[in-house]
Amino acid sequence: MGMSAVKLKIDGMEVIAQKGSTVLQAAKDAGIKIPTLCFHERMNPIGSCGMCVVEIGGKSEPVASCETLVEDGMSVVTQSEKLLQARRDALTAILVHHPLDCPICDKAGECQLQDLVFEHGITHVDMEAPTSKFREGYSTTFLRSWPERCVLCTRCVSACNEIQGIGALQVVDGPEGRQISYDESKCVSCGECIQVCPVGAILEKKAELRWRPWEVKKVRTTCPYCGVGCQLLLHVKDNKIVKVSGVEDGEPNKGRLCVKGRFGFDFIHSKERLTSPLIRENGEFREASWDEALDLIADKFKQIIAESGPDALAGLSCARSINEDSYNMQKLFRGVFGTNNIDHCART
Ligand code: SF4
Ligand code: SF4
Ligand code: SF4
Repeated sequence: MGMSAVKLKIDGMEVIAQKGSTVLQAAKDAGIKIPTLCFHERMNPIGSCGMCVVEIGGKSEPVASCETLVEDGMSVVTQSEKLLQARRDALTAILVHHPLDCPICDKAGECQLQDLVFEHGITHVDMEAPTSKFREGYSTTFLRSWPERCVLCTRCVSACNEIQGIGALQVVDGPEGRQISYDESKCVSCGECIQVCPVGAILEKKAELRWRPWEVKKVRTTCPYCGVGCQLLLHVKDNKIVKVSGVEDGEPNKGRLCVKGRFGFDFIHSKERLTSPLIRENGEFREASWDEALDLIADKFKQIIAESGPDALAGLSCARSINEDSYNMQKLFRGVFGTNNIDHCART
């Protein structure tokens, strides 16, 4: 055991954890699952939901394991009647304010609240909601909030602040109690708030209510918009993309996307897309095969080089190309055509 390691017991098991790590992390590393709702791997602990409570020897009340650091000799219990009751109470308090509109919620099937309620066997809620459930939400071209479904975990606020550095979301006191306020003038429509929301309180707008999570096939791919190479999951129903999300543990973006990567996929299914080359003859375009089009281009290039020399040609490779294609493009211009007139349009 090095200087930076501590020894503790979790559910009777001896565990060695890094100094400075949380009880939640130490338990996870030891293969012990503690339920969470507001906790998110990519953000600092929020400690708002009360689900990750554990009992610690010597302390009379349960503590949030996401915010408690491991200590040498600590003894932690993650499952007990008292903890189960505390977690059921936390979920019940959320459900008092939460409409169970799962049948018309795009999140149903991959909703953390739904899963936790199921796992904790809560079948009814006796309490009356103290206030009305309906709240006015916000809606943009790409996203819509369903504020009555918000469980006030504040993940979206942390994500917009900590991960994206934008600060368009805030927790404010409204007439119906605490709520999330949205500043359209700051929002860059990255959709990170959608990515991290554990429930269906912020959702994609384009294909809303047209698919269920269990109907889609998730296809991992690389974003075609720029050279960063963000990893995407395409959610595909009936061979059509209905939603795009970021791959949480995928480099280089770790779940984050920009507005183009997350929402800019309409063109894929556009009827106006060119599917074969067009050759202009007498001012009119006609469809051609790839062989015919490429032969024509090669002939024209040869003709230009013969008449005016290789420096009469210039190449501009596309910012959406992968590095290997851009490399080949400059090889073609320098090595085959014999000109250094080669550039790349990535200037943004
Ligand atoms: S957020 Fe989850 S629990 Fe709430 S309505 Fe949607 S699927 Fe159901
Ligand atoms: S909108 Fe979603 S992420 Fe934001 S506080 Fe509500 S439940 Fe949490
Ligand atoms: S879309 Fe992005 S910038 Fe806008 S509120 Fe959500 S996280 Fe913040």
